[in-house]
Amino acid sequence: MTERLTLFEDRPYLQFCPHCGKSTLNRPIVQRLMCRSCGFKLYFNAASAVIALITDGLGRLLVTTRAREPAKGSLGLPGGFVDLGETAEQALSREIMEELKAELVSARYFCTEPNIYPYKGVTYVTVDMAFLCEVSAPERVEPADDVQAIQWLYPNQIRPEDFGLVSMRNIMRRFLAQGQVS
Ligand SMILES: [Zn+2]
Repeated sequence: MTERLTLFEDRPYLQFCPHCGKSTLNRPIVQRLMCRSCGFKLYFNAASAVIALITDGLGRLLVTTRAREPAKGSLGLPGGFVDLGETAEQALSREIMEELKAELVSARYFCTEPNIYPYKGVTYVTVDMAFLCEVSAPERVEPADDVQAIQWLYPNQIRPEDFGLVSMRNIMRRFLAQGQVS
C-alpha cells in the first residue's frame, strides 16, 4: 500500500566534486558520493521536514492546493523544511503561521515518510515528519505563502492519489487507515 521512493533515477545529486572541482563523482549509491580523482567522499542524509495534519474539531482535515513547484496545483498539506537550529515543533509553528496565518496550539507526533523534492535543479531527499495539529481559530485560516487555496475535507472526501508528493500520499493513506480525525 505504501509507495516506494525512486532516488536519483533521472538526475545526479551533484555534478562536480566539492573538494577538487572535477566531474568525477560516481553515481550515487544512496548514502554516499565518491570522487574518482581525489577520493573525496561526500555523505548525504535526509533533510528534516514537517507536515501538519490540522483538524477542526468537526471531523475535517485541512488540505491545501500547492501554489509552487514541485507538484504545483496538486493537493498538499501545510509544512516545510526544518531550518538550521530549529526544532521540528518550531518549524511546524512557523510554517503554519507563514502558510495559513494561523497559530499552532497543539501538535502530536503521527508518523514519518521519506520524500524526494526536486527544486530548481537540486534534488532534496527528506524525511517528512507528520504531526496531528490543532490551531487556535480554524474558521479563520486563510491561504498565504506557498498556498493557493485551502479546503476542509471529511475523510470520505480525501483521495491520497490527488496529492502531488509521494510522502503526502503515503501519510494520507496511513491517516485514513487509522481513522485519525477528531
Ligand atoms: Zn575530487
